[in-house]
Amino acid sequence: MSDLRPAQAYLALGGNVGDSRAILARAVALLCDGDMVKLIARSSDYRTPPWGVEDQPPFINLCIAIETSLDPRDLLARAQDVERQLGRDRAKEKRWGPRTADIDIVAYNDVRLRTPDLTLPHPRLFERAFVLVPLAEMAPNLVVAGRRISEAVAKIDADDIERLTPLA
Ligand code: ADP
Ligand code: MG
Repeated sequence: MSDLRPAQAYLALGGNVGDSRAILARAVALLCDGDMVKLIARSSDYRTPPWGVEDQPPFINLCIAIETSLDPRDLLARAQDVERQLGRDRAKEKRWGPRTADIDIVAYNDVRLRTPDLTLPHPRLFERAFVLVPLAEMAPNLVVAGRRISEAVAKIDADDIERLTPLA
């Protein structure tokens, strides 16, 4: 990358297999090594109903803000590498079904991208209370695709998104 200034990116993490709060805490630690990926902010953990495929346990979800020197494709590759380290095997899952750790890139600077492997901003952001609610806690004034997150979250049904108290 020629631009040496770090990019600002927002990631959404979720999981519903195993001890999800511990697994996702580990995912944040593995992702954010402080060198290529620096943690700037982290939301609370939330307990959320399953989405897409409803017959499965509730999810834990959270969002983080990072600064990174990785370009979007390398950031996705790193996120998928962390998913694998935490035991995710995409070959054995169904779409939107149970998983140990799912890491999505919500937004990366103002980049708009549409490739088979990566769409930015994340195409389903504005439909997903489980992403909007943690994102709004952390970055209410963030504008993604021309929409302010605080306004987007006010328009979505988020009644069953439960904020959890921090782990000791
Ligand atoms: P989902 O995140 O929608 O529940 P998966 O985690 O199985 O589903 O992701 C499916 C594919 O989505 C991944 O293989 C990845 O290449 C692609 N993808 C496209 N855009 C993004 C993005 N912004 N962040 C993460 N993955 C993305
Ligand atoms: Mg994903």
